[in-house]
Amino acid sequence: MQKKASLPTFTADELVVVNNAVAMAEELVSNHYKMSASQWLHPKYDIKTLADLNPNEIVDGPFAQIIRYEGKPDGGILGSSSYDFYKVCIQDHAILEVLQAQPEIALFPFGLYVVTHELVHIVRFSRFLQSFNATELEKRTEEHRVHRITRTILDSVKTPGMHAVLTYYGTWHSPIDGLKSIP
Ligand SMILES: [Zn+2]
Repeated sequence: MQKKASLPTFTADELVVVNNAVAMAEELVSNHYKMSASQWLHPKYDIKTLADLNPNEIVDGPFAQIIRYEGKPDGGILGSSSYDFYKVCIQDHAILEVLQAQPEIALFPFGLYVVTHELVHIVRFSRFLQSFNATELEKRTEEHRVHRITRTILDSVKTPGMHAVLTYYGTWHSPIDGLKSIP
């Protein structure tokens, strides 16, 4: 667990870029899976950057972490017994480190890759194509699969700097995210 105060977070300008990347990733992923707006609202998810994370949502290394909160009815949701809520926790510090070390990598295409990748995970969780309780081997296989799907989705995107990001991930072999379940 990291002390948040010591970690660099996105500036206001960078947050605008990240928000635009999130909007585009949502559109690309829903188009890819041909989901309607209402289908897309299930499962419920939220995407947060470091400034809005709790200490136990911060990790060292990965660019993002998906936390599944197992929802309990709290009176506010009519007719629902239980639901899962996914929080995509963007790790600003890890992304900023890459941008600093790799001048050819820009925030928009890099953020687009990370968020698209995380949304693909969430769609696959919600369709039971991926299990939160998978073995390490299954998780690694799934991570490769999600990278492949992400590349397929982003291959046709004509965003400046996309090619450099796809090249960067072309040789990537470790997970870019953590998964955690909080009851
Ligand atoms: Zn992943």
